[in-house]
Amino acid sequence: MEGLIFDLKRYAVHDGPGIRLNVFFKGCPLHCLWCHNPEGVAFEPELMLMPNRCARCGDCVRACRYQALSQNGNGQVKADRSRCTLCGDCLQACQREAIEIAGRKMTVEEIATEAEKERVFFEQSGGGVTLTGGEPLAQPAFAEALIDSLKLHGFHVALDTSGYAPAEVFRNLAKKADLVLFDLKIMDETRHKKYTGVSNRIILENFQSLEKLGKPVWVRFPLIPGVNDDENNLEAMASFLCQLRSVEQVNVLPYHKGGLEKIRRLGREGEFAVFEPPSQEKVQSVIDFFARRGFKVKRGG
Ligand code: SF4
Ligand code: SF4
Repeated sequence: MEGLIFDLKRYAVHDGPGIRLNVFFKGCPLHCLWCHNPEGVAFEPELMLMPNRCARCGDCVRACRYQALSQNGNGQVKADRSRCTLCGDCLQACQREAIEIAGRKMTVEEIATEAEKERVFFEQSGGGVTLTGGEPLAQPAFAEALIDSLKLHGFHVALDTSGYAPAEVFRNLAKKADLVLFDLKIMDETRHKKYTGVSNRIILENFQSLEKLGKPVWVRFPLIPGVNDDENNLEAMASFLCQLRSVEQVNVLPYHKGGLEKIRRLGREGEFAVFEPPSQEKVQSVIDFFARRGFKVKRGG
């Protein structure tokens, strides 16, 4: 069985306990305007241009049989993605690795083999594999087969999700994982739709269903100034989480601008928004807010 993956990150330490291998699923049904992993949103591979590595030699333009690439007056390479077939010829032609295709098919066995290479780190640190993205629940059959295989290998598996999936898909995969990392963003439904493109109703219902499964949950709260850092949202979130014994900790993830360069590389400017990162004081005040309500709180993943 194959899934569409856009990255494997080794030695990850922010996405579950210990040292981990993060498997990034490509494709997400949400469209969060602050997305830190914009290359994980589309459900198909995408051409990425890295102008900071480019020598402006033009080899890629000449290699492209589909006239999908051109150079402007300064030699800067531009892509007409509507013409691109993702054949990969330009990648071969480029000596500077200034072009990439984000997203490739990988089999369950290939990923399990990569995880095996990390076994010693997992065992020494209490780590394992984290399925993240994008959205792992959006490739449910592949995610299930991968979790089953990783469990057979004896690895700890964490599932990092927005929770936006049919209830049976969510429950099935959450049940199989050892830990759920649940991204909770905005409590008000209208505001959630405005900033992520979808309702949060099914997300909150799925979250509550974890209680019955007795599954440990780490809540991941992306802190975006002007979007979800207000008293109303924080109070609503704390009241919701207080009722759930499965919540082991809250991770406050301050917004940063790291996704903007990737948005430019994808040629998807205009599809996302730019925010100002929260101040240190604001981050600390949100950490203190959750701590006062009895949660174990961590800054970052
Ligand atoms: S991947 Fe192929 S079609 Fe697309 S720009 Fe490169 S050479 Fe052209
Ligand atoms: S081949 Fe590579 S270095 Fe040369 S113009 Fe194309 S992207 Fe830039």
